[in-house]
Amino acid sequence: MSSSVALRLPSIDGLLRHPACVPLAERYGRESLLASLRQLLDELRSSVLNGQLSAVEISPDVLAGRVGERLAQQQRSNVRRVFNLTGTVLHTNLGRALLPDEAIDAVQMAARYPLNLEFDLATGKRGDRDDLIEGLIRELTGAEAVTVVNNNAAAVLLTLNSLGARKEGIISRGELIEIGGAFRIPDIMARAGVRLHEVGTTNRTHARDYEAAISPRSGLIMRVHASNYSIEGFTARVPTAELAELAHRHGLPLLEDLGSGSLLDLTRWGLPAEPTVRQALLDGADIVTFSGDKLLGGPQAGLIVGRKDLIAKIKKNPLKRALRVDKLTLAALEAVLGLYRDPDRLAERLPSLRLLTRPQADILAQASRLQPAMAEVLGEPWQVSAVQALGMIGSGSQPVARLPSAALCLRPQVSKRLRGRCLLNLEAALRNLPIPVLGRIDDDALWLDLRQLDDEPAWLAQLPQLQVES
Ligand SMILES: *Cc1c(COP(=O)(O)O)cnc(C)c1O
Repeated sequence: MSSSVALRLPSIDGLLRHPACVPLAERYGRESLLASLRQLLDELRSSVLNGQLSAVEISPDVLAGRVGERLAQQQRSNVRRVFNLTGTVLHTNLGRALLPDEAIDAVQMAARYPLNLEFDLATGKRGDRDDLIEGLIRELTGAEAVTVVNNNAAAVLLTLNSLGARKEGIISRGELIEIGGAFRIPDIMARAGVRLHEVGTTNRTHARDYEAAISPRSGLIMRVHASNYSIEGFTARVPTAELAELAHRHGLPLLEDLGSGSLLDLTRWGLPAEPTVRQALLDGADIVTFSGDKLLGGPQAGLIVGRKDLIAKIKKNPLKRALRVDKLTLAALEAVLGLYRDPDRLAERLPSLRLLTRPQADILAQASRLQPAMAEVLGEPWQVSAVQALGMIGSGSQPVARLPSAALCLRPQVSKRLRGRCLLNLEAALRNLPIPVLGRIDDDALWLDLRQLDDEPAWLAQLPQLQVES
């Protein structure tokens, strides 16, 4: 620029009074507006001095617009809704189970009003929060007693510490697993103060291996559901009933960490079989632990069920106070468990089960319906097809089982060398949408598994905003 007249930034006061800024003060508050204006002017000052900006670029209207965008950005919540089209239904990184309306209503009530969280309305005395759901869980699992904590990792930690501290915990080498997020059975045992006594081998552990490990130092026998891996081939594992009998013969409790812990036999809905909590207890496990937000389909929680005397001991542990659930979780959990009283309608009412049982034909029809819109938005270099796909349950349930599903398969029609970059650009563009869309890249294509696409209108409405860098 050859102009000899140095440009000057508008004053803060002037900007605050400017008609474009007045609504911003009303919307975001004067303090936030002021802070944002100061920050923007500070950033621009040196560019103005160097003559790098035009008069229009520092006009009050343009500056107000920029500040408005910043304030809107700042106000946007970091916790955001996304479309989970990854094909993994109970996705740990995407919040696992979706709650049914009944649970959402219960959470609202619990958030809005005082409630009898630890107050016995019958006697007018202090109550225990576990009592609010103990009856239901006993009914649904056949357990004698129940206590609930923040998640299943907490349930395992608390149980081990309460029943086995300073003693040995006997466990098969095939069950020393790591679950995502650095939850490893040997580490949890150590933190719980239980000395790990591993027995058997990775693929085969026999009753005699457990038997030989039992000594006066033993505190408990533990069994862990393999969850996220499977051992196949030349394998041996002691059935729970036999292991319980062995434990009891030696006066030891048997803990079973079921992980996803299904309350009902899922095969009635055509899903892969998962051990149920009731069966584990019937087989003789003294304590069973499981998650609230995996197959159960409820809020994040860890449920500990089993023998009354052991649950009483667990509840007395001071750690229980540190790991307990909050009122919102309890309200949601009670509502979700209530739906299990009517198994015939569970698949309609519980979102996770409804999604897990969606027929493939239904999903494929949806993919065909959406294919033209997707193809139009992506245009020339992309081949968009509605195809069958394989999804999974997720959260360590049936790691090898696949759910027959359907997807939009987005394949770039470019040279092999450019394909990877192309796919990453599309993936980023989908993540950039107002409601980010998350799929998965596999076999030189981006797959959008539609099993979980409930809100089709919202998905379609934002599609024209997709901007893929080329
Ligand atoms: C998932 C899982 C856990 C951890 O449960 P969170 O609810 O995620 O804390 C523990 N044990 C097993 C076997 C699991 O599958």
